[in-house]
Amino acid sequence: MNIILFGPPGAGKGTQAKNLEKKLNNFQISTGDILRDEIKKDSEIGKKIINNMNEGKFVDDEIVNKIIKKVIFDPQKKNKLIFDGYPRTTDQAKNLDLWLSETKQKIDFIFFLNVNKDSLVKRIEKRKILEKRSDDDLHTILKRYDTYMETTKPVLDYYSTKSNFKEIDGSLEIGEITSKICNILKV
Ligand code: AMP
Repeated sequence: MNIILFGPPGAGKGTQAKNLEKKLNNFQISTGDILRDEIKKDSEIGKKIINNMNEGKFVDDEIVNKIIKKVIFDPQKKNKLIFDGYPRTTDQAKNLDLWLSETKQKIDFIFFLNVNKDSLVKRIEKRKILEKRSDDDLHTILKRYDTYMETTKPVLDYYSTKSNFKEIDGSLEIGEITSKICNILKV
């Protein structure tokens, strides 16, 4: 089963992806985590993306798509994908469709974790203290939210017309959200 977790920064996609990873024996594919790792390793990709990441801007589609293509074509991960933070642009969504069809896969469910801006700001501020993420200052948070509204909204509009699109109240407790998702997945 392949799943997309969709929602603004701080909506809890990563937490839910980790819960579902255990439950389904799938793989969490967090583009944010993969990109942060590149920065930590000080790789060529890391050097290219550090400014965008710290400013809350998107990393170029070309870089992100290349990373995701490798994951989709990995036979070990086939039909075991939980996308967390991808796709975020229409170009990424189109590439995802293409590569899934090339590998004879599909997206089974898209979960939209919907949370309002005030709750998000509070949540991200808390996470900044717990996880010490360098891209989590208030200025960056607001920038990331605005980027999300501008760029990711069309992707949301695209998915929201599909029958496997499910909206979940992302302001609920973590466990409640996981239960709601598992009920829909029947696991
Ligand atoms: P996240 O951990 O998903 O909140 O992502 C943190 C940061 O990584 C974002 O603010 C972007 O700079 C970058 N990023 C993560 N996923 C993507 C993506 N699909 N496309 C472009 N940039 C991304």
